[in-house]
Amino acid sequence: MVAKPAPKVVDPHYHTPEHQRWSRAVIARAGGRCQGKGCGRSGVRLFADHIVELRDGGAPFDLANGQALCGACHARKTAAMRAERLRGRGGRIAGGEGGPDHPRSHAQKISAGAENPPCSARGAEND
Ligand SMILES: [Zn+2]
Repeated sequence: MVAKPAPKVVDPHYHTPEHQRWSRAVIARAGGRCQGKGCGRSGVRLFADHIVELRDGGAPFDLANGQALCGACHARKTAAMRAERLRGRGGRIAGGEGGPDHPRSHAQKISAGAENPPCSARGAEND
């Protein structure tokens, strides 16, 4: 019995026609401009991004939950979300509860004086 590692599968959600339509609508609404904070680039490839990610309970097909981001902004947001998740605090979004417990090893090595009794002290009674 071998425990197979779960194969990496792209979330099927992103292949649905609903998602594609949402994605197109989000980008169309943006008017060809990146909606990233302080970005506003145009003439670049845009990605439809869920403001509140699906795993955080965001609405998948709500235009209000969509924004068009250029590659740079999208990467930055993804990285920021990941960092936030790793920190396990801040950016608490509705629906997300139960903070992930990050293992914080308080492994303190107490170097107690190692007691090494000299071997010669033991009276070996062999045979
Ligand atoms: Zn941008």
